[in-house]
Amino acid sequence: MAYPPSIQKLIDLFSKFPTVGPRTAARFIFYLLKLSKEEFDKLISSISELKNKIKICKLCFYPFEGEGEVCSICGDQTRDRSLLCIIEKESDLTAIENTKKYKGLYFILGGTVSTLKKADIEKLRIDKLKERVKSPEFKEIIIAINPTTEGEATTLYLERTLQSLNKKITRLGRGLPVGGELEYADEETLSSALESRK
Ligand SMILES: [Zn+2]
Repeated sequence: MAYPPSIQKLIDLFSKFPTVGPRTAARFIFYLLKLSKEEFDKLISSISELKNKIKICKLCFYPFEGEGEVCSICGDQTRDRSLLCIIEKESDLTAIENTKKYKGLYFILGGTVSTLKKADIEKLRIDKLKERVKSPEFKEIIIAINPTTEGEATTLYLERTLQSLNKKITRLGRGLPVGGELEYADEETLSSALESRK
């Protein structure tokens, strides 16, 4: 039997979330239906606050709350402003920060590409990245993209694209398992990959 339209509509919306398919989406909806009025209202207000309170840092593209146009990392003058680390997504920044071994700045690329088709590449922040890398303060650009097949293709593309900007370009060194993702690596592995960058 088909779901009532208001349930089906939400399943369609939740199915668009990363890694969520229709079955998981349906489980989410039935979970929502079981919530008390209070819990439900709290969830709804948290979601509306998200759009109202969160700003995206104009330098690294990390979401933040507060005054100004840049996040607390980009605005922190005690960090090593000669290093720029390119990562795929927000959770990779958190993973690297958790190692407490990296004191430079970041740039969130916004994804990876499996092919070098124009349409795919346009999904990444390549123009913004080039502009950022050009900033004279940076002496080293660290490409810290996940060592997956797509990540490798993206790293090669970035190395080629950034080459002409005459900066030292390094990538994460040993330790990270092939096909693995930064956010799932333990802190020690990620620290050693950062330290052994080449
Ligand atoms: Zn920032």
